[in-house]
Amino acid sequence: MWEDGTIWQGAREGALLLRACADCGEICHPPLPMCPHCQSLHWEHRQASGKASLLSWLVSVHPAEASQEPRVIIVVRLTEGVNFVSNLIDTRIETLSEGMALELCFETSGELVLPVFRPAGDAV
Ligand SMILES: [Zn+2]
Repeated sequence: MWEDGTIWQGAREGALLLRACADCGEICHPPLPMCPHCQSLHWEHRQASGKASLLSWLVSVHPAEASQEPRVIIVVRLTEGVNFVSNLIDTRIETLSEGMALELCFETSGELVLPVFRPAGDAV
């Protein structure tokens, strides 16, 4: 069954949940209606380890409120082998480098809890 609330529900519980095929076990992210590996329609959830490496990033400046802190939007490669789009926190833009180790954390924004990343091993 197609549903897209898994990530948000997991984040509220402090976990990044990925969809995995219940038949072949492959993780499918972003979610698709059908497993691209075995065409199964049966899904289960798997908790990500939270470890990732930085693939790419861009700095987003709010067009109407330039005084706000710029956000760093990132694409990471999770150790589970899939790419994930998120935000990077607790870092200076000039220290970013491709492949740097990141770790998962969570940030509350209004009623949402967002899975975000920060440099691995940093004391915050
Ligand atoms: Zn499959």
